[in-house]
Amino acid sequence: MTEVLEGILWALRFLTGACIFSFLNVVVYRLPRGRSVVYGRSFCPGCGKTLTSKELIPCVSYLIQKGKCRACGMKIKKRYVLMEFAGGFAFVFCGIFFGCGKFGLLSLQGSIAFAYLCILVMVALIDWDTRIIYDRFHIAVFLLGIVSCLLFPANRITDCLIGSVIVSLPMFLLAVLIEGAFGGGDIKLMAASGFLLGWRAVLVAMFLGLIFGGIYCAVMLARGRLSRKDPFAFGPFLATGLAAAFFWGNEIADAYASFL
Ligand SMILES: [Zn+2]
Repeated sequence: MTEVLEGILWALRFLTGACIFSFLNVVVYRLPRGRSVVYGRSFCPGCGKTLTSKELIPCVSYLIQKGKCRACGMKIKKRYVLMEFAGGFAFVFCGIFFGCGKFGLLSLQGSIAFAYLCILVMVALIDWDTRIIYDRFHIAVFLLGIVSCLLFPANRITDCLIGSVIVSLPMFLLAVLIEGAFGGGDIKLMAASGFLLGWRAVLVAMFLGLIFGGIYCAVMLARGRLSRKDPFAFGPFLATGLAAAFFWGNEIADAYASFL
Protein backbone atom coordinates (compact mmCIF):
# COMPACT_ATOMS: atom_id res chain seq x y z
CA MET A 1 0.00 0.00 0.00
CA THR A 2 2.77 2.40 0.91
CA GLU A 3 4.45 1.67 -2.43
CA VAL A 4 1.26 2.71 -4.25
CA LEU A 5 1.08 5.93 -2.22
CA GLU A 6 4.76 6.62 -2.92
CA GLY A 7 4.12 6.08 -6.62
CA ILE A 8 1.17 8.48 -6.59
CA LEU A 9 3.29 11.07 -4.77
CA TRP A 10 6.07 10.84 -7.35
CA ALA A 11 3.51 11.12 -10.16
CA LEU A 12 2.12 14.26 -8.49
CA ARG A 13 5.63 15.69 -8.17
CA PHE A 14 6.21 15.00 -11.86
CA LEU A 15 2.94 16.74 -12.72
CA THR A 16 3.86 19.73 -10.52
CA GLY A 17 7.15 20.18 -12.36
CA ALA A 18 5.42 19.75 -15.74
CA CYS A 19 2.80 22.39 -14.84
CA ILE A 20 5.45 24.87 -13.69
CA PHE A 21 7.54 24.40 -16.85
CA SER A 22 4.35 24.69 -18.91
CA PHE A 23 3.92 28.13 -17.35
CA LEU A 24 7.57 28.93 -18.14
CA ASN A 25 6.74 28.20 -21.81
CA VAL A 26 4.20 31.01 -21.55
CA VAL A 27 6.75 33.36 -19.97
CA VAL A 28 9.38 32.58 -22.62
CA TYR A 29 6.83 33.27 -25.36
CA ARG A 30 5.25 36.41 -23.90
CA LEU A 31 8.06 38.28 -22.11
CA PRO A 32 10.03 39.24 -25.26
CA ARG A 33 6.73 40.23 -26.93
CA GLY A 34 5.90 42.61 -24.08
CA ARG A 35 2.72 40.74 -23.11
CA SER A 36 1.52 40.10 -19.58
CA VAL A 37 2.56 36.68 -18.28
CA VAL A 38 -0.28 36.60 -15.75
CA TYR A 39 -3.32 37.88 -17.63
CA GLY A 40 -4.81 36.51 -20.81
CA ARG A 41 -5.64 32.88 -21.61
CA SER A 42 -3.30 30.93 -23.85
CA PHE A 43 -4.34 30.70 -27.49
CA CYS A 44 -3.25 28.99 -30.70
CA PRO A 45 -0.86 31.32 -32.57
CA GLY A 46 -2.24 29.89 -35.84
CA CYS A 47 -5.98 30.56 -35.57
CA GLY A 48 -6.24 32.51 -32.32
CA LYS A 49 -8.58 29.99 -30.66
CA THR A 50 -8.44 30.20 -26.85
CA LEU A 51 -7.19 26.93 -25.40
CA THR A 52 -9.72 25.02 -23.27
CA SER A 53 -8.72 23.59 -19.91
CA LYS A 54 -8.52 20.14 -21.54
CA GLU A 55 -5.91 21.47 -23.94
CA LEU A 56 -3.80 22.85 -21.12
CA ILE A 57 -2.95 19.59 -19.32
CA PRO A 58 0.83 19.36 -19.57
CA CYS A 59 2.29 16.42 -21.56
CA VAL A 60 -1.14 14.71 -21.93
CA SER A 61 -2.88 17.30 -24.14
CA TYR A 62 -0.10 17.23 -26.70
CA LEU A 63 -0.23 13.44 -26.98
CA ILE A 64 -4.06 13.34 -27.23
CA GLN A 65 -4.09 16.07 -29.91
CA LYS A 66 -1.19 14.35 -31.74
CA GLY A 67 0.77 17.61 -31.62
CA LYS A 68 -1.76 19.67 -33.59
CA CYS A 69 -4.24 22.45 -32.86
CA ARG A 70 -7.76 20.96 -32.82
CA ALA A 71 -9.28 23.92 -34.63
CA CYS A 72 -6.84 24.70 -37.43
CA GLY A 73 -4.50 21.70 -37.43
CA MET A 74 -1.38 23.83 -36.98
CA LYS A 75 1.52 21.84 -35.56
CA ILE A 76 2.36 22.65 -31.95
CA LYS A 77 6.10 23.25 -31.43
CA LYS A 78 7.76 20.12 -30.03
CA ARG A 79 9.72 22.41 -27.71
CA TYR A 80 6.60 23.07 -25.61
CA VAL A 81 5.92 19.45 -24.81
CA LEU A 82 9.63 18.66 -24.36
CA MET A 83 9.78 21.50 -21.80
CA GLU A 84 6.81 20.02 -19.92
CA PHE A 85 8.43 16.60 -19.70
CA ALA A 86 11.75 18.23 -18.75
CA GLY A 87 9.97 20.10 -15.92
CA GLY A 88 8.49 16.86 -14.60
CA PHE A 89 11.86 15.13 -14.62
CA ALA A 90 13.61 18.18 -13.13
CA PHE A 91 11.18 18.30 -10.18
CA VAL A 92 11.52 14.56 -9.55
CA PHE A 93 15.31 14.81 -9.88
CA CYS A 94 15.51 17.65 -7.31
CA GLY A 95 13.35 15.51 -5.00
CA ILE A 96 15.67 12.50 -5.33
CA PHE A 97 18.89 14.52 -5.16
CA PHE A 98 18.05 16.63 -2.09
CA GLY A 99 15.29 14.50 -0.56
CA CYS A 100 11.70 15.51 0.02
CA GLY A 101 10.48 17.64 2.92
CA LYS A 102 7.17 18.23 4.65
CA PHE A 103 3.91 17.24 2.93
CA GLY A 104 5.95 15.32 0.36
CA LEU A 105 7.10 18.56 -1.26
CA LEU A 106 10.70 19.40 -2.06
CA SER A 107 13.15 20.08 0.75
CA LEU A 108 14.45 23.65 1.08
CA GLN A 109 17.61 22.84 -0.85
CA GLY A 110 15.58 21.00 -3.47
CA SER A 111 13.27 24.03 -3.83
CA ILE A 112 16.22 26.37 -4.34
CA ALA A 113 17.64 23.94 -6.91
CA PHE A 114 14.33 23.74 -8.78
CA ALA A 115 13.84 27.51 -8.68
CA TYR A 116 17.35 27.97 -10.08
CA LEU A 117 16.64 25.46 -12.87
CA CYS A 118 13.45 27.40 -13.72
CA ILE A 119 15.43 30.63 -14.06
CA LEU A 120 18.16 28.97 -16.13
CA VAL A 121 15.63 27.45 -18.51
CA MET A 122 13.98 30.84 -19.11
CA VAL A 123 17.39 32.52 -19.55
CA ALA A 124 18.53 29.84 -22.02
CA LEU A 125 15.38 29.85 -24.16
CA ILE A 126 14.88 33.63 -24.26
CA ASP A 127 18.57 34.14 -25.06
CA TRP A 128 18.30 31.48 -27.78
CA ASP A 129 15.23 33.19 -29.30
CA THR A 130 16.18 36.85 -28.89
CA ARG A 131 19.81 37.04 -27.66
CA ILE A 132 18.68 39.01 -24.62
CA ILE A 133 19.05 38.05 -20.96
CA TYR A 134 16.75 40.13 -18.78
CA ASP A 135 18.14 41.73 -15.62
CA ARG A 136 15.22 40.41 -13.55
CA PHE A 137 16.69 36.91 -13.94
CA HIS A 138 20.07 37.99 -12.60
CA ILE A 139 18.36 39.63 -9.64
CA ALA A 140 16.33 36.47 -9.00
CA VAL A 141 19.50 34.32 -9.01
CA PHE A 142 21.24 36.78 -6.67
CA LEU A 143 18.25 36.65 -4.27
CA LEU A 144 18.38 32.84 -4.34
CA GLY A 145 22.06 33.17 -3.39
CA ILE A 146 21.20 35.35 -0.41
CA VAL A 147 18.44 32.96 0.74
CA SER A 148 20.81 30.04 0.35
CA CYS A 149 23.50 31.86 2.40
CA LEU A 150 21.02 32.59 5.18
CA LEU A 151 19.52 29.07 5.25
CA PHE A 152 22.77 27.16 4.93
CA PRO A 153 25.55 29.06 6.70
CA ALA A 154 27.89 26.28 5.55
CA ASN A 155 27.95 28.17 2.25
CA ARG A 156 30.35 30.79 3.55
CA ILE A 157 29.81 34.36 2.46
CA THR A 158 33.47 34.78 1.38
CA ASP A 159 33.04 31.80 -0.96
CA CYS A 160 29.96 33.46 -2.47
CA LEU A 161 31.68 36.83 -2.87
CA ILE A 162 34.74 35.32 -4.55
CA GLY A 163 32.36 33.25 -6.69
CA SER A 164 30.59 36.33 -7.95
CA VAL A 165 33.81 37.85 -9.39
CA ILE A 166 36.10 34.94 -10.21
CA VAL A 167 34.49 34.29 -13.60
CA SER A 168 32.57 37.50 -14.27
CA LEU A 169 35.54 39.85 -13.79
CA PRO A 170 37.82 38.15 -16.35
CA MET A 171 34.81 37.98 -18.71
CA PHE A 172 34.22 41.70 -18.22
CA LEU A 173 37.88 42.55 -18.90
CA LEU A 174 37.87 40.39 -22.04
CA ALA A 175 34.69 42.09 -23.21
CA VAL A 176 36.34 45.50 -22.75
CA LEU A 177 39.49 44.44 -24.63
CA ILE A 178 37.80 42.45 -27.40
CA GLU A 179 34.53 43.89 -28.60
CA GLY A 180 31.76 41.33 -28.56
CA ALA A 181 33.79 38.72 -26.64
CA PHE A 182 30.94 38.30 -24.14
CA GLY A 183 27.54 39.94 -23.80
CA GLY A 184 26.67 41.96 -20.70
CA GLY A 185 23.86 39.50 -19.92
CA ASP A 186 26.28 36.55 -19.87
CA ILE A 187 28.66 38.40 -17.54
CA LYS A 188 25.89 39.35 -15.10
CA LEU A 189 24.55 35.80 -15.21
CA MET A 190 27.95 34.44 -14.15
CA ALA A 191 28.30 37.10 -11.42
CA ALA A 192 24.89 36.29 -9.87
CA SER A 193 25.32 32.54 -10.32
CA GLY A 194 28.81 32.67 -8.83
CA PHE A 195 27.29 34.17 -5.70
CA LEU A 196 24.86 31.23 -5.47
CA LEU A 197 27.25 28.43 -6.45
CA GLY A 198 30.51 29.53 -4.82
CA TRP A 199 33.84 29.99 -6.58
CA ARG A 200 34.76 26.39 -7.36
CA ALA A 201 31.42 25.39 -8.86
CA VAL A 202 31.14 28.55 -10.97
CA LEU A 203 34.61 27.90 -12.43
CA VAL A 204 33.42 24.40 -13.36
CA ALA A 205 30.25 25.91 -14.87
CA MET A 206 32.27 28.28 -17.08
CA PHE A 207 34.53 25.43 -18.18
CA LEU A 208 31.51 23.25 -19.07
CA GLY A 209 29.78 26.16 -20.83
CA LEU A 210 32.86 26.75 -23.00
CA ILE A 211 33.04 23.03 -23.86
CA PHE A 212 29.32 22.78 -24.73
CA GLY A 213 29.35 26.03 -26.72
CA GLY A 214 32.59 25.02 -28.45
CA ILE A 215 31.21 21.63 -29.52
CA TYR A 216 28.02 23.28 -30.82
CA CYS A 217 29.99 25.88 -32.82
CA ALA A 218 32.37 23.27 -34.24
CA VAL A 219 29.46 21.08 -35.41
CA MET A 220 27.52 24.01 -36.89
CA LEU A 221 30.60 25.44 -38.65
CA ALA A 222 31.44 22.01 -40.08
CA ARG A 223 27.89 21.63 -41.37
CA GLY A 224 28.00 25.12 -42.83
CA ARG A 225 24.95 26.19 -40.76
CA LEU A 226 26.90 28.94 -39.02
CA SER A 227 29.50 31.35 -40.34
CA ARG A 228 32.27 32.83 -38.20
CA LYS A 229 30.61 36.22 -38.29
CA ASP A 230 27.18 35.05 -37.14
CA PRO A 231 26.11 36.34 -33.74
CA PHE A 232 25.88 33.50 -31.30
CA ALA A 233 23.90 33.11 -28.08
CA PHE A 234 26.24 31.81 -25.39
CA GLY A 235 23.58 31.94 -22.65
CA PRO A 236 22.05 28.49 -23.32
CA PHE A 237 25.48 26.84 -22.98
CA LEU A 238 26.39 28.80 -19.86
CA ALA A 239 22.99 27.89 -18.39
CA THR A 240 23.60 24.19 -19.11
CA GLY A 241 27.03 24.39 -17.47
CA LEU A 242 25.58 26.23 -14.47
CA ALA A 243 22.81 23.65 -14.03
CA ALA A 244 25.32 20.78 -14.05
CA ALA A 245 27.69 22.65 -11.74
CA PHE A 246 24.90 23.39 -9.24
CA PHE A 247 24.57 19.65 -8.58
CA TRP A 248 28.08 18.30 -9.25
CA GLY A 249 30.35 21.38 -9.44
CA ASN A 250 32.26 20.75 -6.23
CA GLU A 251 32.70 17.03 -7.00
CA ILE A 252 34.04 17.84 -10.47
CA ALA A 253 36.41 20.44 -8.96
CA ASP A 254 37.63 17.89 -6.38
CA ALA A 255 38.16 15.25 -9.07
CA TYR A 256 40.12 17.76 -11.14
CA ALA A 257 42.23 18.89 -8.16
CA SER A 258 43.13 15.27 -7.34
CA PHE A 259 44.52 14.91 -10.88
CA LEU A 260 46.96 17.79 -10.39
ZN1 LIG B 1 -5.17 26.79 -34.24
